[in-house]
Amino acid sequence: MAKRLKVANPARCIGCYSCMMACARTWYDTISLKNSRINIQTSGGIETPYNAIVCHACVDPPCMRACPVGALTKRKGGGVIFNKELCNGCGNCIEACIVGAIHLDAEKKAVICKHCGVCTKFCPHDVLEMIEVEDSGELKVTDTNPVEDTGPESLTASHKEIYEKKDFGEKEPEGEK
Ligand code: SF4
Ligand code: SF4
Ligand code: SF4
Repeated sequence: MAKRLKVANPARCIGCYSCMMACARTWYDTISLKNSRINIQTSGGIETPYNAIVCHACVDPPCMRACPVGALTKRKGGGVIFNKELCNGCGNCIEACIVGAIHLDAEKKAVICKHCGVCTKFCPHDVLEMIEVEDSGELKVTDTNPVEDTGPESLTASHKEIYEKKDFGEKEPEGEK
């Protein structure tokens, strides 16, 4: 049974970069964020939400089709398996990727998610999760009658939704909004 990475609760990301450091540490033995296969970005400044840029596990990967030397092959469950030896650093896959999830490392080799799931274990807020998919990459239907997700304590609620309902014993000063 195949699995793939999913950004399940993007609104919960606080930009701690733990996932990036875990990925780089695991696969490059560094904590250089340039070696991470997941990229946490703000939409434009520290006051905007964070976006997790990571491989979407395409069933028919454009990056694979763009590679002139066969360094990328289809991965069971979606996405690609990368052959570093074959990669010539041309960057065609970067241009072809639908979400901008590929870059080159210092050796001019492609950096692409393996869907290993290591990063999910280091996210303190369950932003990332591994989901089961068919070997073809299609989503697995395991619950045909899902319970309605009502929040604010639900898994998809953002921090704001969760905490604005809580009483921390702090009152706003008189006259201030
Ligand atoms: S950078 Fe490497 S993996 Fe990407 S298209 Fe070029 S040869 Fe293929
Ligand atoms: S790297 Fe980009 S194009 Fe390739 S499978 Fe992942 S999302 Fe699709
Ligand atoms: S699933 Fe693995 S390769 Fe992909 S971003 Fe997470 S740690 Fe990196």
